[in-house]
Amino acid sequence: MRMGRRRRQKVRRRPQKRIPDVYPCPACGNTAIKIELYRDNSIATVKCGSCGIEMTIDEVNPLTEPVDIYGTFIDRFYEERTTEN
Ligand SMILES: [Zn+2]
Repeated sequence: MRMGRRRRQKVRRRPQKRIPDVYPCPACGNTAIKIELYRDNSIATVKCGSCGIEMTIDEVNPLTEPVDIYGTFIDRFYEERTTEN
């Protein structure tokens, strides 16, 4: 007597390469920067979950990606630093 076939199917999921949701923080060094895009309002918020640094970026257009916001955030962060000196 034969038992029913019992072949275990291996479901292999390819890990998709995604852009990470968190970015390194220039202030504290932790990868804890979260970016939220509000395209309807043409703004984005940048916030570090570690040190609490926050910034609102108002240069958002329909093509803006979080990584662009991150770039703007970094630029502004260092701009502010240099003007403080
Ligand atoms: Zn931080």
